[in-house]
Amino acid sequence: MYLFLGIMIFLLGLCVGSFINMALWRVGNNKSLLKEKRSYCDFCKKKLKWYDNVPVLSFLIYKGKSRCCGKKLSPSYPIVEILTGIIFVLNFYYSTTYLLLFLTFIILGLLVFEAAFDFKYMTLPDLTAFLLIGLALLRWLVLGTPKSFLVSALISGLFILLLHKIKIRGHEAMGDGDILLAVFMGLFLGFPNIVVAFYIAFVMGAIVGGFLILKKIVGRLTPIPFGPFLILGTVVAFWWGEKIIRILEIRF
Ligand SMILES: [Zn+2]
Repeated sequence: MYLFLGIMIFLLGLCVGSFINMALWRVGNNKSLLKEKRSYCDFCKKKLKWYDNVPVLSFLIYKGKSRCCGKKLSPSYPIVEILTGIIFVLNFYYSTTYLLLFLTFIILGLLVFEAAFDFKYMTLPDLTAFLLIGLALLRWLVLGTPKSFLVSALISGLFILLLHKIKIRGHEAMGDGDILLAVFMGLFLGFPNIVVAFYIAFVMGAIVGGFLILKKIVGRLTPIPFGPFLILGTVVAFWWGEKIIRILEIRF
């Protein structure tokens, strides 16, 4: 029964991931999210059939090409879908109540959207960041946890604001969108998990950034979106923050 539910949740995650892919394209191109019911091919604008839109499967069956005109599709489509599926299953596994499960489904879905959006367009939409802050506050009300969450939100927001002011040869090291994201992170994670999230984000950012510069994939001053790293840190710290602190035996 538990396994069956897990599979259902994974399939739900795949579908939400597919919706996130569509939302990424529509929001990024200033199209209405809900007005047009049917979706169109990115290349030849032909209407897509339902079987062109089956998460992951359509991509595999047509070998990563669009069925109508044979253009190569970005592997980001199945990646976003599978990632959402895995995250949804983990959320199902770790959530304690149905209300929290439902709330974190929305929060995690928005986080996948934010990470992919920053990756694709190098900016974070303010609207989703405000939505995330609102949902984190709501979750905080449901949990009835102490005010330390508000303090950690304030401090982490200020921390990124400070980094935002630093300029490396006239280039901003951190975008404005990251500030709102940091406020959300503090509110969602609280102390000390917020520290774990930043730690993971900066270490992973340095490793991946360093690798890309070393391999000459990007130039030394090419901006690399930091949002995906912050979000990776958030998700990892949300579920395993306390465990990581115990393993590293960090004392706060
Ligand atoms: Zn086409």
